[in-house]
Amino acid sequence: MEYDKNNIFAKILRKEIPCEVVYGDDQVLFFYDINPQAKVHILGIPKKKVVDFRDFILRLDQSSVQYFFTKIIDVINGLGLDQKGYRLIINNGRDANQEVPHFHIHILAGENLKGIR
Ligand code: AMP
Repeated sequence: MEYDKNNIFAKILRKEIPCEVVYGDDQVLFFYDINPQAKVHILGIPKKKVVDFRDFILRLDQSSVQYFFTKIIDVINGLGLDQKGYRLIINNGRDANQEVPHFHIHILAGENLKGIR
């Protein structure tokens, strides 16, 4: 699928719409989900134009993929979420109801996640 440069996360990356940043650098951005499904609900995105999980894994080089997942650990540890646990979710495509066509990972935490998502 071709990358839609007007998707909402592309606009966030261009700072056309605001977000509450948890962590950002030249390669990745982590920010709070506007419609949290748990007490802590963070989204992590690579800054490269990748539509979905397949695109992320196959089109980025291995070091970028590894960097992204390592930053997830850093964000989780930085907020102390590793103490009690967390859930990572990637929605991919129509049946998963992926709403935003820029690859992202959900980090859910902050409470017992039974029955959530
Ligand atoms: P998905 O269904 O996996 O594509 O998830 C998209 C997520 O983006 C949903 O959890 C939305 O609540 C979230 N979202 C949509 N717009 C914004 C926004 N402007 N800022 C933060 N999160 C957003």
